[in-house]
Amino acid sequence: MCIFCKIVNGEIPSNKVLENDNFLAFHDLNPKAPAHILTIPKVHVDSFNELTPETMAGMTTFIQEVAETVGIKESGYRVITNVGDNGGQEVKHLHFHVLGGTKLKWGHEADANSADFI
Ligand code: AMP
Repeated sequence: MCIFCKIVNGEIPSNKVLENDNFLAFHDLNPKAPAHILTIPKVHVDSFNELTPETMAGMTTFIQEVAETVGIKESGYRVITNVGDNGGQEVKHLHFHVLGGTKLKWGHEADANSADFI
């Protein structure tokens, strides 16, 4: 069972932000911004490649609720999902990073140096 499935079923603790029947949001263990939340479907989906439009519809609303819950909806935030090896996906359970709480960096160097990305 993957690490995020273990978080869903309570085998591994998480710092939960929000939950509904289908989705869970929790703080990233290694935050890359003042607010760094991971949003996942409770059912295992490997990556964005396997995500259905129906699940994405629920995820969209859920991410908006997460942004509101942690107080970054109006100030702005970034939503990222890494896909596969070149995308830098370490955990093979679909997750959207929701980052905010500061002015995030953005620019053409992002692809060359991941440290500049966020
Ligand atoms: P990615 O590289 O897109 O697969 O992102 C995986 C993210 O999961 C990283 O930002 C990790 O810090 C985070 N992470 C890994 N294990 C845990 C955990 N047990 N609780 C919270 N975040 C985690």
